[in-house]
Amino acid sequence: MMAVLLLLAAAGFFLVNAGLVNPNFMRVVYPFVAVGLLLPLLSREFYNRRDLAATLKRRRVLIIVAVGLAAVGLNSGYSFSPVGRRVPVLVYHRVGKAPHQDYPVPTISPAEFEREIAYLDAQGYRTITPDQLLDALEGRPAHLPRKPVLITFDDGWRDNYLNAFPILKRHHMSGTVFLVADGVNHTQRLSIPQIKEMSAAGWVFGAHTVSHPHLTELKAGSAQWEITQAKERLEEMLGTPVLYFCYPYGDGASNPSIRKIVAEAGYRAAFSTRFGLSGEQEDRLALKRVLISDTPWLAWLELRFVL
Ligand SMILES: [Zn+2]
Repeated sequence: MMAVLLLLAAAGFFLVNAGLVNPNFMRVVYPFVAVGLLLPLLSREFYNRRDLAATLKRRRVLIIVAVGLAAVGLNSGYSFSPVGRRVPVLVYHRVGKAPHQDYPVPTISPAEFEREIAYLDAQGYRTITPDQLLDALEGRPAHLPRKPVLITFDDGWRDNYLNAFPILKRHHMSGTVFLVADGVNHTQRLSIPQIKEMSAAGWVFGAHTVSHPHLTELKAGSAQWEITQAKERLEEMLGTPVLYFCYPYGDGASNPSIRKIVAEAGYRAAFSTRFGLSGEQEDRLALKRVLISDTPWLAWLELRFVL
């Protein structure tokens, strides 16, 4: 009996940590496991035994392991945030044909994007918003889908509306776009009506500075202007709060003075180009993401082995 409970506690601990079961499930199971493990210690029969000292000595290791596991198990079952597992935040840029551009931008064809989204859909992934991610990271009750994914698009290209928007819509998914404030309404970039239409369909828009500079190469005043003005201008254009920031080129995410500006500008969180999945204890001013390669076979590997 003891062995079964120990096995259950250990298995639960492993499964929760590996993100294979919902932590809420273990919150129900662990109290029973703990009571089961501690029950023998409370029974009269246990203490009435003449050979109590010998029993305790013989079972010392088992008792220590049982109490330790129950404590760890209870603790992990209760303190885990609703994320439980780490959440992938994907990065895309352009979905379509890339004509002339000032700097190289990862671009994939609509057909390739459709393949990747169809794969995620078939695997049971459901898109979430940055609010949902942050609520979960902050341990607030959040209704995350079983397999959450946040799909982000940097720069605010018009092909996000023309190509990515309909594809995601077909899969009942939505995305998050980080807009370069100066770019809005330009021929290759999203227009305000397009942004509003996407917002109405559940898309979220964040800021990606005013002019897409390398923030650490600017004077402090200019960097501050880029970060705060982007928020103000976009909020005025869109008529909604802009709560999320994304560093152009990932530059500034580990720079204390740039981070301070981002925090003081009133952003709830900022996304970097640091590679990885987002979990608890995450750096809110440099959330990790997974840049999906524009080389199809690399993207194929990423979606199967990183997520
Ligand atoms: Zn960018």
